[in-house]
Amino acid sequence: MDWNDSPAQAEFRAGVRQLIAEKLPARYRGDDGAEGEGDGVEWMVERRSQDPVAQQASAEWATAISERGWIAPHWPVEYGGAGLSPIEQMIYNQEMAMAAAPRRVGGQGVSQFGPALVVHGTEEQKKEHIPKILAGERIWAQGFSEPGAGSDLASLQTRATRDGDFYVVNGQKIWTSGGHLADWLYVLCRTDPEAPKHRGISLIMMDKSTPGITVRPLVNMAWVHHFNETFFEDVRVPVANRVGEENRGWYVSMTLLDYERSNITGAVSARRQIRRLMDYVNGDGKERARVKDYPSIRSAITDRYIESEVQFNFSFRIISMQERGLIPNYEASVNKLFGSELSQKMANTGVKALGLWGGVWDEEKAPVRGSFPKAYCLSVSSTIAAGTSEIQRGIIATRGLGLPRG
Ligand SMILES: Cc1cc2nc3c(=O)[nH]c(=O)nc-3n(C[C@H](O)[C@H](O)[C@H](O)COP(=O)(O)OP(=O)(O)OC[C@H]3O[C@@H](n4cnc5c(N)ncnc54)[C@H](O)[C@@H]3O)c2cc1C
Repeated sequence: MDWNDSPAQAEFRAGVRQLIAEKLPARYRGDDGAEGEGDGVEWMVERRSQDPVAQQASAEWATAISERGWIAPHWPVEYGGAGLSPIEQMIYNQEMAMAAAPRRVGGQGVSQFGPALVVHGTEEQKKEHIPKILAGERIWAQGFSEPGAGSDLASLQTRATRDGDFYVVNGQKIWTSGGHLADWLYVLCRTDPEAPKHRGISLIMMDKSTPGITVRPLVNMAWVHHFNETFFEDVRVPVANRVGEENRGWYVSMTLLDYERSNITGAVSARRQIRRLMDYVNGDGKERARVKDYPSIRSAITDRYIESEVQFNFSFRIISMQERGLIPNYEASVNKLFGSELSQKMANTGVKALGLWGGVWDEEKAPVRGSFPKAYCLSVSSTIAAGTSEIQRGIIATRGLGLPRG
């Protein structure tokens, strides 16, 4: 298999590198992924930061990307996206991840909600929201999961009751990523409690400043405020804010598939982490001597190296399917499962290999900027987010291997 770029792909890659070289704000340069996932800071956090330097850098970077249409690499050109082919998207994401450029510029409005609005929204809805999403001005968060509805999302209970031209919404969502940083929410609500569970749900857009919406922080064990609980108490939302037909929200939400199914960002991140670990161990005489006495650490590093290469090839497999017009199904689950479990194994190996330093987070003092202990805490959620490992195994077993459903 030849994974080298064609001349056209090489030219595209050079263009992305040039943009990074010329426009990536100084603040982000040299970031070696100390965030833990190894692929740069969260753009939304920078955008809402109290620090004017952070705010300016996030605005400059969003402008630089949007000038090329690259803020939405996967959207059709007629809606202001770049219309990049799957392989170009892969190259784009690969280069951005290698430079540790800020992640998810434009937030979930670009990565998830916008593409669904393009397909299912009315002309008025598109005119109102799409330009603001593409300019990075209006940030969206997803209100799907509830305390009693996660893997079995269709059991959700947040209720939207019709009252003339409004819905009155009551209920609770949980794990709302970036809900505290968002301006708007896209929320799945039950609009027909009598219908079979998948058929009584609608997707409704809500301005977060609407009275009755409360967002409460959930701080994770890495002391990062990423999630929130979101409460709705008699929230009045115009019926015009519904996306798609009433009670068809489940099917609308299926369009919200994560656009980066190749997870090339994760593959780049795994490669970078293992190289940093190898460089650290090899670059220090004392560390080499210590690891020499621990064959289990040597073996673990070797295994992680092999797995990071395997993950790269899984990513390329997804891209090659998309390039041929095929829609990855269980193959995307294989990739997600393998990549998320690798992120945990990688963090575990790093913490062990660093010995006592493996418990020190201090970016200035600890080796590899304390990134492995941080990753150790942050990567726990990777096997839960976007479908747990058990759910992925179920998909692979039934859809991929034809095994009977349990
Ligand atoms: C980092 C992160 C970001 C997230 N962001 C958002 C967000 O922005 N918006 C949002 O709405 N939600 C978000 N979520 C929530 C996420 O979608 C849910 O956590 C996920 O769907 C799992 O649901 P749950 O937590 O309720 O677990 P449950 O579904 O209750 O699962 C509990 C356990 O049971 C297992 N299990 C459940 N069903 C089965 C089955 N059929 N077969 C085998 N095992 C099963 C699961 O694998 C798991 O181990 C996020 C989660 C994470 C971790």
